Amino acid sequence: MQSHPAQLFSFEFYPPKTEEGAASLQVVHSKLAALKPDFFSVTFGAGGSTRDKTFDTVVDIQAKGIAAAPHLSCVASTKDNICAILTNYQQHGIAKIVALRGDLPSGTMSAGEFRYANELVEFIRLETGDYFDIHVAAYPEVHPQAANAAEDFKNFKRKVDAGANSAITQYFYTAEAYFYFVDLCEKNGITIPIVPGIMPITQYSQLFRFSEMCGADIPRWMRKRLESFGDDKTAVQAFGLDLVSGLCQRLLDGGAPSLHFYTMNQSAPTVAILENLQIKS
Ligand code: FAD
Repeated sequence: MQSHPAQLFSFEFYPPKTEEGAASLQVVHSKLAALKPDFFSVTFGAGGSTRDKTFDTVVDIQAKGIAAAPHLSCVASTKDNICAILTNYQQHGIAKIVALRGDLPSGTMSAGEFRYANELVEFIRLETGDYFDIHVAAYPEVHPQAANAAEDFKNFKRKVDAGANSAITQYFYTAEAYFYFVDLCEKNGITIPIVPGIMPITQYSQLFRFSEMCGADIPRWMRKRLESFGDDKTAVQAFGLDLVSGLCQRLLDGGAPSLHFYTMNQSAPTVAILENLQIKS
């Protein structure tokens, strides 16, 4: 088994909503920071207060010495408030952004002034030139709302043409979907890094629900195995660790430039996978 340098990894958090969540994230951050990742990213919710929490979390992470990449989404955003957020980040030395459309929550929230992520990327480039390293989302298994796979790919290319430097994929458990997508990029002259998004498996009911919503495929054999463990959390976690470690190994061996972990604000599942990959810190 090959070993890999730690800079090949990045870790995603969501902004904690409570004081306990914030305290716990400090511990998780310090455990993961010890692995010297390339950066930490922090998600961006639709509502106002979660947006402030993204900002606070990002500034805190950046101050601790490892780069932080805030996510930014089109939903309910105006050109003015995006400008204000970008200026604020620049003032805090934050130079990475994950630019997304976001999903409109049910209710009366407005869609905002940007319809799609490519428009947001274009706007960030227009306003700030080459200052930001812009990451966008990619969907090897096709975005759930896409008209079809070919249109979805064209739409992905629009984000690259608008100035994205790199892409992070939705999570998946079928390595072929990723390799096929990367081949398609090469055939279409897309040369930016396509970084696999990795979702560790710690339990399955939430994973099934979430995967249904975001269009991540849980292959039948995997679903059946997970279901067969019932309430046996230890068995689910052991199976998940083995499976996701194997997936990561295949992706890196097959040329994936880096891995981005959806940590769900937990360190243990990600650390266990990285130990299996024998990372060097
Ligand atoms: P887009 O690239 O705009 O695509 C959305 C859909 O519209 C696709 O079906 C696409 O084919 C279609 N489309 C795109 N452009 C056009 C066009 N010009 N004309 C017609 N159709 C078009 N959500 C959050 O709310 N907060 C987060 O912090 C967050 N972080 C994420 C991080 C990663 C790495 C990923 C993969 C997803 C994240 N999401 C987040 C979820 C994301 O917002 C949703 O998947 C959303 O549905 C799509 O976002 P996008 O940026 O890919 O959208």
